[in-house]
Amino acid sequence: MHVLFFDIDGTLINTGGSGVESLRLAFSEVFACPPPDAIPTSGRTDRGIARDLFQSRQIANSEENWLRFHAAYIRHLREQLPLRPGRVLPGVVRLLDELAARRHVALGLLTGNVEEAAWLKLQHFGLDHHFAFGGFGERSGERNAVAEDALAAARQALNGGVHPDRLWVIGDTPLDVQCARHIGAQAVAVATGLHDRADLTRAAPDLLLDDFSQPGVFLQRLDEAKAA
Ligand SMILES: [Mg+2]
Repeated sequence: MHVLFFDIDGTLINTGGSGVESLRLAFSEVFACPPPDAIPTSGRTDRGIARDLFQSRQIANSEENWLRFHAAYIRHLREQLPLRPGRVLPGVVRLLDELAARRHVALGLLTGNVEEAAWLKLQHFGLDHHFAFGGFGERSGERNAVAEDALAAARQALNGGVHPDRLWVIGDTPLDVQCARHIGAQAVAVATGLHDRADLTRAAPDLLLDDFSQPGVFLQRLDEAKAA
């Protein structure tokens, strides 16, 4: 069994800015002050983003503040997703359909989104049914910890049938490549997010794609590795 962990934002979908807008709206509402102009989110976890937002306005990074912020964020995200021109990224639907037809492949998530936001986003774009388990962004500010959680979730979901040589992480940022290495996975980078080919090349992924409009390259690599 090959286990593929997919990032969400910039890899499967682009939410048209509804994620960042919801973070802004939630922050203003809960803490009654504006968030900073720039909120770096690419490749980061929601918990890490919240920690930095709190710090920028001298707000305690307490569990209580986190939970209030989280609840407001989810509520705004539910409202914002249908209002913005988001889209599924090129070739993703076909790629996921092709992968679903392969019995030696299991699909999971490895995302900085908190779990509720991850499923909301995927449901909005009709992609949630492809994924059964994952690592999410509420526990830690560090993506490597999310990768550890994703791997643990895969082991549980697949009854331990996870081979360390058959792990893949698919994402759009150098941090996705980095966390793939952390769990010994192969890294597939796709330049459909904020990072261009040059950025991603420096991160030295095993495979670098402009997008998934030609999924054959990745599928062939996976099928060749099937018997490995
Ligand atoms: Mg991403």
